[in-house]
Amino acid sequence: MVPSSSNPGDPSSSSTSPSGSENLSAFHRFLRKAQLVSGIGVTAEERTKDLEELNIRRCEKMKKELIDTSPLLVFMLKHLRLSGCQVPEQNIVCVPCASPFTSAASTNSASNPHPSETQLHAGAYLPFPHGAIKLCAGHFFSKQHVESTIAHELVHMFDECRFKVDWQNLRHHACSEIRANNLSGDCKYTREMRRGIISFTKQHQACVRRRAITSVAANPACPSPAHAERAVNEVWDSCFADTRPFDEIY
Ligand SMILES: [Zn+2]
Repeated sequence: MVPSSSNPGDPSSSSTSPSGSENLSAFHRFLRKAQLVSGIGVTAEERTKDLEELNIRRCEKMKKELIDTSPLLVFMLKHLRLSGCQVPEQNIVCVPCASPFTSAASTNSASNPHPSETQLHAGAYLPFPHGAIKLCAGHFFSKQHVESTIAHELVHMFDECRFKVDWQNLRHHACSEIRANNLSGDCKYTREMRRGIISFTKQHQACVRRRAITSVAANPACPSPAHAERAVNEVWDSCFADTRPFDEIY
């Protein structure tokens, strides 16, 4: 027989043990979890909210650990600081995003030069007003994915800090996307495998180019994918070779 969830204070069932109420509340937590997992006795809204909260907690935990321990992120954050652009931890935020295939509803195109970033990186760099990185909690398949997503957006931040990027200028945007995809780990071989793309020849460059074109094409200032491709081609050589603040590709 299981304790009744409607009568947690029943003396016959729990008060004889000093830890009875503790056990009961643990049981209620378990029961609640089981309800949320199974969907029995809870509404769809409650399940969605619970999942969102869980994803945000996981995302925040991974973010905190990575900021402290990832050599890639520690390096990027140090160079941002040295360039005069300190990035407080609270400026990197985990938020629920509507779907992996749409931008967050709270993002507006006036404040975000490339609002469809979410589609590609599960994150976005929001330059205004103080420079923040949005991470789409729930869109990550591993801690390494969180790491490369933060690194990608930190490269955009670094470019904005050092080079005063005009995000409406497609060549500027293309250059920053090439660098971000090149330097962040977005185009590591294993990541491409996960996307179902297997190519041993120039895989890395092809990935950087493809993702840069897609991001620039999503810029509201970009008239067509052909314009995005042209912008990427025009700046490719100099921007692919520009690995600052790294000496070489991480
Ligand atoms: Zn980007």
